[in-house]
This record gives sequence, structure tokens and C-alpha cells, in this order.
Amino acid sequence: MRINGSRKRVLVTGGAGFLGSHLIDRLIARGDDVLCVDNFDTGATANIEHLAHEPRFELLRHDICHPLHAEVDEIYNLASPASPVHYQYDPVQTTRTSVNGAINMLELARRLGCRIFQASTSQVYGNATVHPQPEHYWGKVARFFNAYGPRLSLADGRVIPNLIAQALTGQPITLYGDGRQTRAFCYVDDLIDGILALMASPATFTGPVNLGNPDETTIGELVALVVELTGSPSLIERRPQLQDDPARSLPDIGLARQVLGWEPKVTLQEGLERTIDYFRRGLGAAVVAGKAPADEGNRRSWRIAEGMASRQSLA
Ligand code: UDP
Repeated sequence: MRINGSRKRVLVTGGAGFLGSHLIDRLIARGDDVLCVDNFDTGATANIEHLAHEPRFELLRHDICHPLHAEVDEIYNLASPASPVHYQYDPVQTTRTSVNGAINMLELARRLGCRIFQASTSQVYGNATVHPQPEHYWGKVARFFNAYGPRLSLADGRVIPNLIAQALTGQPITLYGDGRQTRAFCYVDDLIDGILALMASPATFTGPVNLGNPDETTIGELVALVVELTGSPSLIERRPQLQDDPARSLPDIGLARQVLGWEPKVTLQEGLERTIDYFRRGLGAAVVAGKAPADEGNRRSWRIAEGMASRQSLA
């Protein structure tokens, strides 16, 4: 039985984060009551401040590494630093969140007898030798592949916010490795659709299921697209390839299509345009101050700082 009559009370951990805050917006919009839990290590109040006066929204600052007592009908566990820069900063704390935090949430779900959604990552596939990666290749639960969109932090460290912030401020665009490594980028609205579809699926289906966009892009192509869409004068700065950087990443979403009837709808170009728009508004001061290109005539054609390779050789 529902705790609150017909209204569902939903716990979202990591609710002040990028994905958590988008998920909460959707739950509130469909009429649920939401308890947002976040320790604010990487979450931001800016992501949820528009909900401050929303009567169906409640915020609790709490680290899920410690047990939590709450009365809810459903749990979405999204609490974890997601960017490599952040999850590698304090690996012990990251592991504690993934292990102890997940155990605490599972204990809560067991006590309440409620459904729980556990977020995982495509990184469990490592540098995959099977391409695209199906779920049975390794690991468990709902695995996200490179989500992006508004509310990613400028300091997030992941490739899309990095490139857009650099392009809009005219700073060198950091390209790690030769740019031939691939990723499949999933716009946040599509991912939230997938999360909600999985939670609503029959109890017999528990995953793991890949949630990502089946459109594979090289990082070189991504750089070219960001430069084109922002009209940036930035130069490309080559940096060494990161350690253990997967050469190719692409979800096999056959299972999500079949069981959830889900697939992404937003193209990379559309999603990037919306994300660039968000960053432009966020970066307003820097753009107005003239760090970003104002004068079409002064725009330098972009080149790779080392070696002056052409745009085509990257893409
Ligand atoms: N990357 C890059 N420039 C950056 C940040 C990342 O070239 O400023 C590359 C990174 O080496 C990787 C890809 O972009 O090959 C995606 O990196 P990200 O950290 O966004 O995600 P993940 O590696 O977890 O898929």
C-alpha cells in the first residue's frame, strides 16, 4: 500500500546531481512526492533551487554511506560521483558510496518492501573487446553510457562540458589522445525516459540493461561539432591519452528496445545545441566580457596546436 494514499513518495539519492535533478523534475511533474538526498560532494544546490517552494519536494543533506530511515514507496539510487576527475579524486570514498551506500539503500528497500533502481555505468565494460557491448558481456543493473545535457557542471571534467566551456571562453580545447576513441552520448531527457521505463517494467525484469544512445562518435568528431556549433576561435591542445581510456564505447540497446520499448530520440547535434545554450546562459559574464568570439572577421580558423592538422583529419 502506498504510504501517502494514491500519491507516490519517491526517494532519489544523488538528487542534487546532474541526472538526479532531471529525474526529480519529471517525478514532480507527474505528481509524485520526492525526497531528495544528497551529500553535496558533487551535487549542487543550483540544480534544485527552482524546487525550493515546491510543496511536494523535500531535501535532506545526508551521505548514504550511513544508514537512512525514510518512509517511501520507491527508491532511485543515483548517488555517486560520475565524472572520472571526481570519482578518481577519493577512490576510497567513491568505493564506500558504491558499496556501503548501495547496501544501505538495499536494506531500506528490503525493510519497506519497495522497488529500487540502481544506477551503474558503462565503465564496467572496461576497454571492451566486444563491440557494441551487450549486457551479458560483464556486470549488472541499469548502465548509463555518457549522459550529457543542461546542469552538468562546468568543472565536471567530462568531455562535453569541458569542450563547450573551453569553446565558449576561447580557451584551448583539450583533446586527449588521437581523437579516434569513440563514445556514444545520450541526451539527458532520453536517459530519464529510460530510467522511468525500467522502474515501471514488470517485477520479473531486473536488468542489467544498457541505457545509452546507439550513435557512435569519435572524440575528434565531437570536437569538430562543438567548434562548429559554438563558432569558437579556440585552438586544439593535444594532451596525452588518459590511462585505461576505453578505445571504443557503444551500447547494444537491443534489450532496452525489446523489454522497455525505449530508444533515444535526441540527436547529438540537437542535444549539443541545447547544452551549449545552457552553458552560454551560465557563462554569460565571460561571453559578454569578450572572451568568446564577437567579431566574425577576427575568427581564426581552428587548428590543432601541435602539428596544425586539418579539421578533416580529426573527424
Ligand atoms: N576527453 C578529451 N578532452 C577532455 C575530456 C575528455 O579528449 O577535455 C576524452 C577522454 O580522454 C575520453 C573521452 O573524451 O576518451 C570521454 O571522456 P569522459 O571523461 O567524458 O567520459 P568517459 O571516459 O568516462 O567515457
